[in-house]
Amino acid sequence: MLKVLKFGGTSMADAAQYRKIQDIVRSDPTRRVVVVSAAGKRYADDNKITDLLYLCDAHLRYGVSCESIYNMIRERYCGIRDELGLKIDLESEFDVLREKMEHGISREELVSRGEYFSALLMAEFLGFPFVDATQWLFFHYDGTVDQEKSYAALRGIVGDGCAVIPGFYGLMPDGKIRTLTRGGSDITGALAAAALDADVYENWTDVSGILMADPRIVDNPRPIERATYSELRQLSYSGAQVLHEMTVFPVREKNIPLNIRNTNDPSHPGTLVSEEFHEPRSKEQCFITGIAGKRDFSVVTISKKGMAGAVGTLRSIVEVFENNTVPICYTPTGIDVLSLVVPTEKLTPHQYSIMDELRSEVRPDSIKITDNMAIIAVVGRKMAFRAGTSGKIFAALGAKNINIRMISQGPDELNILVGVDDKDYAETIRVLYDAFVK
Ligand code: ASP
Repeated sequence: MLKVLKFGGTSMADAAQYRKIQDIVRSDPTRRVVVVSAAGKRYADDNKITDLLYLCDAHLRYGVSCESIYNMIRERYCGIRDELGLKIDLESEFDVLREKMEHGISREELVSRGEYFSALLMAEFLGFPFVDATQWLFFHYDGTVDQEKSYAALRGIVGDGCAVIPGFYGLMPDGKIRTLTRGGSDITGALAAAALDADVYENWTDVSGILMADPRIVDNPRPIERATYSELRQLSYSGAQVLHEMTVFPVREKNIPLNIRNTNDPSHPGTLVSEEFHEPRSKEQCFITGIAGKRDFSVVTISKKGMAGAVGTLRSIVEVFENNTVPICYTPTGIDVLSLVVPTEKLTPHQYSIMDELRSEVRPDSIKITDNMAIIAVVGRKMAFRAGTSGKIFAALGAKNINIRMISQGPDELNILVGVDDKDYAETIRVLYDAFVK
């Protein structure tokens, strides 16, 4: 049995957090591989180390001294080491970094150092070997991860043992350090779990799992106990702040469950994400998994007599959007009328050329653009077995006088989307949460 754990920035923020991590790891001997982020914020207006490193890089580029920022980073890590009574000679490590900064260091190498120092400290604190990301996480020249080579390398190094690994970076074929996108330690953790065929990938953060709705809108939303990978995808696509699909791709590929946990509340089971669950129907209390949404969509509505039966019109319309690189998010249709729902910020720069091309390519009877539309998704794998979900949505919104401008149900019956005016966005989420969850 093996559990791979990843601890995010707030879990790595100070010595007190390191102690919590030690307790978590020691409480379960199968927790053998630990991936860490750079130190994050200790309080609301604190700085994240990675942000400070990007700032150092900007200073270096413009020839401005970054001495004070560099010292903040150095003191932060040396402070954690001293408070935990660790022996590691961080001063020499920082001297090497300083030297490189003076003689030209790539941005990617510089910003990766937060994870590197975090992992050095955590390795000594847990008594686990430090395994640098450059020893196993290999990229192709096009920036994608060479999974086969990386997995084989990590398996060779870790075997049945323990390790602490820095997240967020790896090595290019030419020996240079390359970073993943921001927040990329999640991906490192998922890759390590997949490489080692872990039984579970535990992603430790500062919330007790994914919440059923945005806590800025709903007071104390309930955490989601279980979600399938498809639901996670639906929720994040629809606007929920959860791990990106790319993050879970390596674990999903190997069918490894993902458990999102809270370092500050380790007894909370968090959210378990898996390919599927076998749940007895009778025990189901609440049959939706979560509610997510986004504002600021535009709806382009095209009408043309006879369009419903014509061949090729849909393709011509879609091509116009493709040529203008505007992504289409949803496409509700009627008879002889089609709407394309697109993010306003993507449409605005191309609005006139799109109108122009649609007029010449499609020759519609009318084109109308409506802005300020919000799309809200009610997501749940259990909806497929039930009658009445959409009835409940309409009844709840109708009772509150919220006008539904658009509706759509995904063909997989995993979600129901409603479009409302931007001004009704928050109220719609609250009403739906109360109707289904409270
Ligand atoms: N430290 C990096 C960032 O802030 C990567 C991570 O924490 O996942 O984006």
